[in-house]
This record gives sequence, structure tokens and C-alpha cells, in this order.
Amino acid sequence: MRYSKKLGQCFLRDKNIVKKAVDAAQLNEEDRVLEIGLGKGILTRELAERANKVYVIELDRRLEPFAREITSRYDNVEVIWGDALKVDFSTLDFNKVVANLPYQISSPITFKLLRHGFDLAVLMYQYEFAKRMVAKKGTGSYGRLSVAIQYYADVEFICKVPPQAFFPRPKVYSAIVKIVKKRPEDMLPLEDPTFFEDLLRALFQHKNKTVKRALLDSAHEIGLEEKELKEVLEGLDFNLKERVFKLGVEDIVNLSNLLYRRIKNRV
Ligand code: SAM
Repeated sequence: MRYSKKLGQCFLRDKNIVKKAVDAAQLNEEDRVLEIGLGKGILTRELAERANKVYVIELDRRLEPFAREITSRYDNVEVIWGDALKVDFSTLDFNKVVANLPYQISSPITFKLLRHGFDLAVLMYQYEFAKRMVAKKGTGSYGRLSVAIQYYADVEFICKVPPQAFFPRPKVYSAIVKIVKKRPEDMLPLEDPTFFEDLLRALFQHKNKTVKRALLDSAHEIGLEEKELKEVLEGLDFNLKERVFKLGVEDIVNLSNLLYRRIKNRV
């Protein structure tokens, strides 16, 4: 079989890494797990051994022989043929997610999962992406992705994975990340999630600038002219002289709510 680069087909071959990922998911026999990307099923088998149910979404029909082999052995595995970005997750009854993700869809699939909800996910990403996900404020990797993810979830770096753990070998290192979705009552209240997303884009286009400069330089991202935004910022109860990359998630949520209220109440 020719491996498709476009589909991110780097299959895990190192059983220790498979075990590490599945261990991090702390599976019990009641868990219903979603896996994205069957591949040859190295991870699926381990999940089927430990969980109550495994849903696995796979786009490439050429992998059908591997799917048949697995479903003939494990009656708790259900294969869904299709694009994980298009499958309606509400038709699948899962509480955990474990996957060696096709790296091309890392970002959209992670946000789709976060929006849908789950208890815990253990996911493999490209190393640099994983570093950005877990980065703390004030560090070099901290950015829009860090804030957007950490708003929804607690994230933990599990381990770095070398290229030789896969076949074919990817060019870069990978990493396993554990994501624990926050309960709705533990999430910081947001006046308007879309405004928060726009604000993140505006701020982190200039992450080394002060908050004020960054906002004025990206006023269009939040739908205002620079002049209008200047007025909105006047007397705002927020330290606008702080550098963007030093703002924590809570600071940005606070700024988002303050700004949103001011903009909405303008005459
Ligand atoms: N889980 C297997 C393993 O660890 O060896 C395969 C992982 S491989 C990195 C990613 C898998 O996702 C491939 O089998 C690929 O065909 C599949 N895939 C790629 N894009 C997909 C998509 N949009 N929806 C569902 N599966 C996809």
C-alpha cells in the first residue's frame, strides 16, 4: 500500500508508545472511546481490549482489510467511514478520545472536539504544535492556540515521541498531550465567544507589542476603525501597557468582556 502524505499516514509501530497513550487515558470497562484514524489498527486493538466501546473514524477505504480483521476479533469496535471533520459527533456516544491524529487536521479536529465535549482526550500531535498547546504565559511558544485551548481545558504534556516510533517516519518529532475538558461550571464566563476569538486573533498577531498597540494595529479584527477603538480604550480598567504574551487566559477573558460591553453599549 502507498502511504498517503496528504492523509498524514504515519502509522505507529512502537508498542511502548501505544501503551503510554492508552495508559494516560486511564480507561475502564465503562469507557466509550472515539479514535480518529484507524490506520492498521495498532491503537484500536489496545483500546478494544480495555474499553467498553470503540468508535473509530477513518477516511481511507483502502484500510478496509485492517478494519475487517479488527471487527471480526472485537465486537466492541465500530468503524465509521468518513471525514472526522464532517461526522456528526452527537451520533456517537463517547466520553474519551484517544488518537494519533493526522497532523493536517490537528487544529480543526481539536476545536471540534472541545466544542462537542468529552471527559478526557489523549492525542498525538506534531511536537511544535503540542508545545504551543501547553505553553504558559510569558514563554516563547505561548500564543493564540495556547489561550484558545486552555480556555476550554486543562492540558498536560505527556511525552515527546521520536520519528522512529512510526512507519513511514515523519520528518519531525511528535508528542502526546492529555486534555481534560473543563466542566461548564468551571469555565470563566464569556460575554461573547465569537468576540473572544476575534480578540485573540487581534492580540496575538502582535504578541510582543503592548496590548494597546496590538489592539490598535488590529482594530479591524474586532470590527472597528482605529479611531473608534482609541475611544473605546480610553479609561478602560485594564493594564493596556502589558505585553500581549504576558497576559494569562483569565486576563484575556476579562479584557474580552470589558471590551465587548463597552463596544455594545456605544452610542
Ligand atoms: N491510529 C493509527 C496509528 O496510530 O497507526 C493511524 C494514525 S495516522 C497518523 C492517521 C490516520 O487518519 C490515517 O489512517 C489516515 O488515513 C486517517 N485520516 C486522515 N485524515 C482523516 C480524516 N479527515 N478523517 C478520518 N480519518 C482521517
